[in-house]
Amino acid sequence: MNPLLLAVALLKLDIDSGTVTTRQWPDAGESVAIGSLAKPFIAIAYAEGHAYRYPRLKCNPKACWLPRGHGEVGIEEAIAQSCNVYFNALRKQIPLDLLQSTARRYGFDDVDRSPPEALLRAYVELQRRAAEPGVAPILTGLRRAASHGTARLLAHDALAKTGTAPCSHTPKSPGDGFAIVLHPAVAPKTALIVRLHGRPGSHAAREAAKSLP
Ligand SMILES: [Zn+2]
Repeated sequence: MNPLLLAVALLKLDIDSGTVTTRQWPDAGESVAIGSLAKPFIAIAYAEGHAYRYPRLKCNPKACWLPRGHGEVGIEEAIAQSCNVYFNALRKQIPLDLLQSTARRYGFDDVDRSPPEALLRAYVELQRRAAEPGVAPILTGLRRAASHGTARLLAHDALAKTGTAPCSHTPKSPGDGFAIVLHPAVAPKTALIVRLHGRPGSHAAREAAKSLP
């Protein structure tokens, strides 16, 4: 198959009805590596084991994707900037069974791999649980990701998260960018996940904007 035809994969969901309105994703039922898209669920699992309090941590530029580092971050900015150091530190403090039970509660079996539709529905579920302890700061982080963080190329007021995961295509690229978007930010109506072959997640966010009103 012509790889150009597969450059953009997209799933779009009407949140109120739960119906998939656009399914432009070959093998949508197959699990893919989800990379940083797992971070909100790592946060929730951590919170459950730590009285729903998130730490402030100093990013180590040598261990993060951003060469200059993220400075000291709390949960909101860690989500918005997708700080690897922050979430690696949280993850080390979560027992595996808690991580798995949290993932299952949100509808996927493995916090590192998921079919795209299940992952998208997990984000919708997270937003529905806004009033539960520990969830609001994560949603704030997702909104900041869209306003000035890793998903800013979306250029819409939305809840968003980007990620880059190992490419599953032939020919192989260094990585595929992902973006998940819930739009608008308040009482979202549309959920969407985009995968962009061979480009970073920030570009996937720009691609996602084309499917928003
Ligand atoms: Zn960082």
